[in-house]
Amino acid sequence: MAPEKMMRAAWSGKVIDGHSHAGVSLKAYALGEYPYAQTIEGLHEQQRTGGVDATVVFPFSADLYFDPAGFAEGQLTPAAAPLSPVPYGAENRLLMREIFDYCPELSSRFLPFVSIDPAREVPAQLQALKELLKAYPAYGIKVNPVGCQSRAGALLDIGAPLLDFAEERDLPLLFHVTTLPGEEYSQATDIFKIVERRPRLRFCMAHGLLFHRAWLDRAEAAPNVWVDTAALKIQVESMGHEIGRTLSAGDFLDVDYTDHRAVMRSLCARYPRKIIWGTDSPAYSWICRRKQGEGIYYDFRLKGFYSDEIAALKALTPELQARVGGANALDFIFGPQ
Ligand SMILES: [Zn+2]
Repeated sequence: MAPEKMMRAAWSGKVIDGHSHAGVSLKAYALGEYPYAQTIEGLHEQQRTGGVDATVVFPFSADLYFDPAGFAEGQLTPAAAPLSPVPYGAENRLLMREIFDYCPELSSRFLPFVSIDPAREVPAQLQALKELLKAYPAYGIKVNPVGCQSRAGALLDIGAPLLDFAEERDLPLLFHVTTLPGEEYSQATDIFKIVERRPRLRFCMAHGLLFHRAWLDRAEAAPNVWVDTAALKIQVESMGHEIGRTLSAGDFLDVDYTDHRAVMRSLCARYPRKIIWGTDSPAYSWICRRKQGEGIYYDFRLKGFYSDEIAALKALTPELQARVGGANALDFIFGPQ
C-alpha cells in the first residue's frame, strides 16, 4: 500500500529544516568537488546532533540524465542514452525509495519534494511525476535552474504545464534564486514574474535572497512568498566579502556580515512570518566550479558545517525559533493558517 501524506497537524510543533538534499552529484564527484553526496540515514544522524525533528529533502542533482563526457567541462548536455529517461526521473524515484522503502523507520521525519527541470522534456517529466506520485507522497517541488543549467523563465512558456501540475496538486515550489548578475539561470526577476502570473501557487525563495533588501521587501509584500536561509553561514561569508566593495551596501540588509548569526537575527526580526530556516545539507559547503551561463564559470571555495546552520537557528528567541524553525515552513507547505 502506498504511504500516505501526513497532514499539517502531524508536523506542527516540530523543529523543521526547510531545505536539504539527498542523493549524489556524479558531476561533482567526477570533478573532485565537495560535497557530492548525502543519504537519508546521514541526514537523520545530523537531525539527531542538531535537535531537528523533520527535514524537507529533495534530490541533489539531475546528473543521471546528462552525458558524463561533458562533466569535465562542467557542461550538462543530455546523454544519447541517459541513465535517467527524464531530468530528475531516477533521482526523484530513488529519493522516495530511500525514504519510504529502504528507511521506513525514518520516513515520518522527512518531507520529500520532487525536483523538476524548467525546460527539458516537459511532457515526459510530467508523466514520470504522475506515475511516481501514485506510489509515494510529495510535499512540494524544488526548482534549481543553475543546478540543471536551465532557465527559470522557461516555466512561463514551455515549462508552464509543470506549474499547472503544481497548482492541480497544491504543491508549493521552492526555488534556488539569485539576486546578483552573472548567474543567468535563476534570476529573481524571472522567478518573481512567475509569482505574479501564478497567485494560487506558494513559493519559497532560497538563500535569503542574498540579503537584498528590495527583493526581501517584495517577498514580504506577497502573501504567497516565503524565503529560506539555506547555507546561511557561507552565503553570509561570500556576500560579506562583496558588500561595500563590488556591491553597493545600501542595497543590502545593514548588518554585521562577519557573524551569520547576527544576519539571522536581523532577517528574522524584520520578516518574522516569512523566513524559513534550512541548512542546505550537505551543500552548506560549496567547493566547485559552476557554470553560471553561456561561457560563464565561477569557482566557489566556501566551507561550512551543519553545526553552523544549527547555531543560526539557536541564535533566535524561542518564539522566533518556533516560527522560523517550524510554523513558517508549514505555512509554505500546507498554506497559511
Ligand atoms: Zn540547496
